[in-house]
Amino acid sequence: MRTASVLVIGAGVIGASVAYHLARRGWREILVLDRSPGPGQGSTGKATGGFRAQYATPINVRLSLLSREKLRCFREETGGNAGYHPVGYLWLASTAGELEVLRSARRVQHQEGLTEAVEVGPEDIALLNPAVNLDEVIGGVFCPSDGFIRPLDILGGYLTSARKLGVEVEWQVEVTGLRLGPGNRVAAVETSRGPVSSTAVVNAAGAWAAQVAQWAGLDLPVAPLRRQVAVTAPTDLLPEGMPMTIFTADGFHLRVRDGRVLLLWPTPGVPGQPFDTGVDDEWIESVVEKAHRRVPVVQRTAIDQNACWAGLYEVSPDKHAILGAAPDCPNLFLANGCSGHGVMHAPALGQLLAEVMSDGAASTMDVGPLRPNRFRESDLNPVSELL
Ligand SMILES: Cc1cc2nc3c(=O)[nH]c(=O)nc-3n(C[C@H](O)[C@H](O)[C@H](O)COP(=O)(O)OP(=O)(O)OC[C@H]3O[C@@H](n4cnc5c(N)ncnc54)[C@H](O)[C@@H]3O)c2cc1C
Repeated sequence: MRTASVLVIGAGVIGASVAYHLARRGWREILVLDRSPGPGQGSTGKATGGFRAQYATPINVRLSLLSREKLRCFREETGGNAGYHPVGYLWLASTAGELEVLRSARRVQHQEGLTEAVEVGPEDIALLNPAVNLDEVIGGVFCPSDGFIRPLDILGGYLTSARKLGVEVEWQVEVTGLRLGPGNRVAAVETSRGPVSSTAVVNAAGAWAAQVAQWAGLDLPVAPLRRQVAVTAPTDLLPEGMPMTIFTADGFHLRVRDGRVLLLWPTPGVPGQPFDTGVDDEWIESVVEKAHRRVPVVQRTAIDQNACWAGLYEVSPDKHAILGAAPDCPNLFLANGCSGHGVMHAPALGQLLAEVMSDGAASTMDVGPLRPNRFRESDLNPVSELL
């Protein structure tokens, strides 16, 4: 039987980052398997490329700050270009209640050292993004070090440098099961090219992670959730340097990428078809109506139906990542449930899981709030529906 010291299931940005960081720490015989024909076919290739540290919990702010540090030196570390472009995230409130939610998150951010996140009034907002119709806006928050990153380039950077360190990455290999042995440890990984025995296994299967965990008898609470993106025709109506602009009320947000405006608005997925990634015409109509009302200049461009897309978030019950050894299966490691923040947090999560696997615990920061057991212990992180 083929052997590996670590077998990583999934070569998205999370699996690539974990493999790279393990190799950096001296692990050898790392094998990464992915059923797709090449990089970026999962959620990583669908991400719009936002980066933010403006979160409502200390752990998410800390993950972003660690990632930001690593994104800033990504070229030195991996030779790739993460495309970190700090143009800011601008959150807009239309009610006092929304503003209070943003303010309380900002207090958490300040405690964690993100002091550049500030409250802004309508006059500041008019300067930060003159295209916004202020009729519905009473204030907001802005963090200039938030901004954009390039998901596929980050994935490519990690894959390339992992390979240079000896990691083997194989495409079109589907993992079909886990064979359990003594101590409920994974003894072998069943694949479409035969079984592989591995000392440790990493579940980095993104939106499909629950199925992998199930093979080990584990009920991993990670569910797919469709996210649709409406894309305009090429236009220069809004500048590339426009901050990510988010209407807190319903999560509608927009940015400019590669000369087009991307419009997003979260909705529930397709009932009964959680892995469906079609784009609904009615959804496009609704998101365009929001854009026209809130950012009127968008009225002067059209949607390019062929350029619109949808992908899957991998959502955990408290919308925080799940990181560490699987409960009751000590050599299966989980890096799952990033809940839509997986690209921006991949640099941090890869490093932290490599620490856990190498030393038994993370040393860069406390990852207790991400422990897989928190669901059994009913000790979830607070969930913010707004940010
Ligand atoms: C529309 C949209 C916008 C987003 N915007 C952002 C953003 O702005 N910023 C951000 O940080 N995040 C964003 N995200 C979320 C981000 O894309 C994900 O959190 C991240 O890509 C997760 O990475 P991953 O490696 O876990 O998953 P994936 O990239 O999906 O990788 C998982 C891989 O596992 C493979 N796999 C699964 N099962 C098997 C199996 N049985 N055998 C072999 N291979 C298997 C799949 O083929 C896949 O390649 C967005 C997501 C969407 C859909």
